[in-house]
Amino acid sequence: MLQAQSEFADFHGLGHGIVEASHRSAAYKEIQERAEANIRELLAIDEDHEILFLQGGASLQFAMVPMNLMLPGRPALYADTGVWPCRAIQEARLMGEVEVVFDGKPTGYSGIGDPTGWQIRQDASYAFICTNNTIEGTQYRVWPETGAVPLVADMSSDILSRPVDVSRFGLIFAGAQKNIGPAGVTLVILRKELLSRVPPQVPAILRYSTHSAQRSVYNTPPVFAVYMVALVTDWLKKLGGLQIVDRLNTAKSRMLYDAIDSSGFYRGTAQPNDRSKMNVTFRLPDEGLESRFIREAEAAGLVGLKGHRAVGGIRASCYNAMPKEGVLALVDFMADFQKRNG
Ligand SMILES: *Cc1c(COP(=O)(O)O)cnc(C)c1O
Repeated sequence: MLQAQSEFADFHGLGHGIVEASHRSAAYKEIQERAEANIRELLAIDEDHEILFLQGGASLQFAMVPMNLMLPGRPALYADTGVWPCRAIQEARLMGEVEVVFDGKPTGYSGIGDPTGWQIRQDASYAFICTNNTIEGTQYRVWPETGAVPLVADMSSDILSRPVDVSRFGLIFAGAQKNIGPAGVTLVILRKELLSRVPPQVPAILRYSTHSAQRSVYNTPPVFAVYMVALVTDWLKKLGGLQIVDRLNTAKSRMLYDAIDSSGFYRGTAQPNDRSKMNVTFRLPDEGLESRFIREAEAAGLVGLKGHRAVGGIRASCYNAMPKEGVLALVDFMADFQKRNG
């Protein structure tokens, strides 16, 4: 943030900021290439996969994935592990047949179970998962075995938080705003051979093949957001890469889960094996206490703890940018709050 501030009005001696620069300028081209190279290096992405910077958020990907990848007469498989994949399913149903291979709804989306045991029929168009369920606080540890069926993943809330074997995936997408930059840019990583699937009636702006052919500058990209992604990925590289980042995230989430489990007061909502390292969700004994917790936390400088409106409770998000000190401050506050209210 401070680096962006320092070069906001005059980027590297240009006499103007990058936010004012043409997306066809050499300065922007260098930035986008750097962001792309950083992501390729951090995730060790092979040459079979392409990196795109699109717009419309993760929500547009819920529509673009079926528009581009559904094959006639071949169902798309979805794992319904929460509010976001549920939205993805609704969009896909507009485009063709959807088969739900895992339904987490009956158990309140508290877990994911064992994805390696899911039945993945080999005539499917693709199989869709959401690797971290932001609202419910659950996260995949292992992937389903999809064989020849392309695995598609919404990684909006855990992209670049841990190493991932990208070669296992046909397509990965992520809205930037949780882990990699400001809202406005959406990262898409896709296997190049999938580009040939795109049916001809899909409008140009919604075709992966358009953005691939035009190197993500088919139309004006969100220049400033991509610049921030370049800065964030520079920082992740400086930290030492995703293994280190994962270690930090593991330590942060463990501090919180330990505090919850040892309290006899706070109660985690996700099944222990499926707990997210990004979004730690928990409840207090009653909703009145939860409101007070959120109010008093905010007064103590701990903000953004209110659970998503769909589920209530408390959600402590520990994305890459959250320092260990922030988590420690919350753990201290939780102990103090319990002493006063438990
Ligand atoms: C936030 C989020 C979305 C929605 O992202 P938008 O960019 O607002 O469309 C989708 N999926 C997941 C997993 C999310 O965390």
